[in-house]
Amino acid sequence: MKILIIGGGPAGSTTARLLAKDFNVTLIQEKEWDKPCGGGVKSKIFEEFEIPKNIIKHKFNYVEMFYKNKKIKIDLKGDNLSIVLRSEFDKTLRDLAQKEGAKIFYGRFIGFENKKAIIKINNEKMLFSYDILIAADGVNSLVRKKTGLKPIPKILTHYARIDKQTDTCKFYFDKKLGGDYYAWEFPHKEKTHIGTFHKNFENFIKYLNIDISPKGYFIPTWQKEIKIQKNNIYFVGDAAGQVMPLSFEGIYYAMHSAKILSDSIKSNLNYEKEWNKRFGKEFKFMKFLENLNKTSLRGFVVNLHKFKRIRNFSVNLWLGAKNV
Ligand SMILES: Cc1cc2nc3c(=O)[nH]c(=O)nc-3n(C[C@H](O)[C@H](O)[C@H](O)COP(=O)(O)OP(=O)(O)OC[C@H]3O[C@@H](n4cnc5c(N)ncnc54)[C@H](O)[C@@H]3O)c2cc1C
Repeated sequence: MKILIIGGGPAGSTTARLLAKDFNVTLIQEKEWDKPCGGGVKSKIFEEFEIPKNIIKHKFNYVEMFYKNKKIKIDLKGDNLSIVLRSEFDKTLRDLAQKEGAKIFYGRFIGFENKKAIIKINNEKMLFSYDILIAADGVNSLVRKKTGLKPIPKILTHYARIDKQTDTCKFYFDKKLGGDYYAWEFPHKEKTHIGTFHKNFENFIKYLNIDISPKGYFIPTWQKEIKIQKNNIYFVGDAAGQVMPLSFEGIYYAMHSAKILSDSIKSNLNYEKEWNKRFGKEFKFMKFLENLNKTSLRGFVVNLHKFKRIRNFSVNLWLGAKNV
């Protein structure tokens, strides 16, 4: 069976890697790029997916939350948060897929012709046939558009890399800095990556006492109604909106959704059902918290983290502890 995957980010390259042993897999990635991203991932992903750990730039056992000039330190119960540089992380995942036998082409999917995918490689149009097509082409998925599905709901974030060293990941919950979401600072060696909802970026850099022009990029806002399959075309990662509400963590969920999709294809199971079984409840609960965060109860919820039991609850939830 021929499987064609569009997009070689965490979702596409993981799907390619997991399917390449059993099927004829081809992965199409537009170009080498360093996706605007905080690069924060749960450290356990390195064991879960057997990824070389030498690409981890930092490991943290705590993070900090800020609200109304007050700081709350959150103990992560070990070095459970890692920071990666996306260009290196994504390339490593593509190399692992290639090692398993996936063929990788650098080119751009531009549409369909006679049930084949049109791929532009070096200005030349080529047709790729497939039995299954997997769309892992990110939040602005062109496959989604060409398949006639609704676009992924999303928000615009502004992002920049600044010449400053930070000691850990910081989250700012003041409305002025993060709007309905949050503003963040993540360390990256001698630099720091920062970001927030686009309308709040000016306030955020003023607060940090810096001046820099941002890059804009979209991030999905998950909804349970998002379609993740149409006939023999499957969507995964940002192209399926699979970013955790409230935390906006996408890498971990893109890779685990890739695992659910590959297992479903291998065992002939219903991907949507399997995904809902694994993540449906968790995503719905976090969506509820995300909506709560948009109300006047936000300060109350943030301040609850002064209590150790609440901090433990949040960290266990984030770590995916079974008892939560
Ligand atoms: C500013 C910002 C900060 C973030 N910070 C974090 C964070 O710290 N931690 C975290 O977990 N998540 C973070 N996220 C979310 C995370 O980046 C995504 O959820 C994650 O990258 C999703 O992986 P993916 O493989 O689905 O999509 P992507 O990483 O977007 O990969 C899609 C790939 O498809 C390729 N592609 C697109 N169109 C085509 C085409 N037509 N033809 C061929 N190839 C194509 C692209 O080049 C890209 O490589 C952040 C997002 C933003 C915007």
